[in-house]
Amino acid sequence: MLRTALLAAARSPQARQLVERTPLAKPVVRRFVAGSSLREAVEVTSTLVADGRKVTLDHLGEDTTDAAQAAATVHAYEGLLDALGAADLAGSAEVSVKLSAVGQSLPKDGEKIALDNARLICEAAAAVGTTVTLDMEDHTTTDSTLGILSDLRVDFPSTGAVLQAYLRRTEQDCRDLSGAGSRVRLCKGAYKEPESVAYQDKSEVDRSYVRCLRILMDGAGYPMVASHDPRLVAIAADLAAGRRTDTYEHQMLYGVRPDAQRAIAAEGKTLRVYVPYGDQWYGYFMRRLAERPANVAFFLRSLATR
Ligand code: FAD
Repeated sequence: MLRTALLAAARSPQARQLVERTPLAKPVVRRFVAGSSLREAVEVTSTLVADGRKVTLDHLGEDTTDAAQAAATVHAYEGLLDALGAADLAGSAEVSVKLSAVGQSLPKDGEKIALDNARLICEAAAAVGTTVTLDMEDHTTTDSTLGILSDLRVDFPSTGAVLQAYLRRTEQDCRDLSGAGSRVRLCKGAYKEPESVAYQDKSEVDRSYVRCLRILMDGAGYPMVASHDPRLVAIAADLAAGRRTDTYEHQMLYGVRPDAQRAIAAEGKTLRVYVPYGDQWYGYFMRRLAERPANVAFFLRSLATR
């Protein structure tokens, strides 16, 4: 119930105003968000890379309803990619993009604007020698996002997809996207979805994750195992037994299980940290609270002790 309430609040403008106006929330947000500026994002990336981890950077923002804001997000990614190139970090850091931040949800021509904008970001990434992964948002956007992915892959074949194991359709999507060179991040899924399209029970989601991961690991693509769940990380090691360690990777979120992140990297495997930065942290932060009730207690305790 708490998860449902937090995920509903993540989409509520009123709740957003309330939480964003709480100045004391910021220090807690910093556990999950690298900072608000490009400089902080590059600093955190540099520290993680020096520690043997790789990075994917997310310029925070989603559900943009304004074309100018979508264009500003593209500029932010272009500036970020330039900075990664200049700091010699592009070999270890890519970017993650939410299509709803670059126009997908605009009422007029949203899909075309998102494709054009995502293409600009892919070009900027290719210019410095890195790539882009398209984050996956709620199920109403899945077909559109996979359509845009397929268009982008014509010119930028290394563009990554994200598939969510909680969706009933995902096993088939994994089959469709398991071909040679296809980079696919598999996660459980972070949105509130109806039973008609998504498994509701945690154990059903976990079983789906294993079925999907088996398909990806048996395929010729590049699976990206995005989970902090120790059981799934161990299962991934078993399923990857016949693979070279440079044909798949693990991914975890900034601020979540950093010891496990270091342990995976120390085994000689690729561990990529998803690093969000920017001012529009609200939706991202609320989804992180919803994933783990203990985070809510941590949040409330921090407010009470300040
Ligand atoms: P869980 O069962 O939720 O967690 C397992 C354990 O991990 C928990 O017991 C806890 O110890 C730890 N843990 C998990 N989450 C947290 C947290 N927030 N705070 C503290 N500890 C935690 N979802 C999407 O819908 N679309 C995306 O594009 C997307 N991209 C992602 C990219 C990456 C790199 C990662 C790691 C996740 C992404 N997610 C995305 C989120 C994902 O769908 C899950 O909601 C999230 O990863 C939690 O699931 P889990 O597999 O870690 O397992």
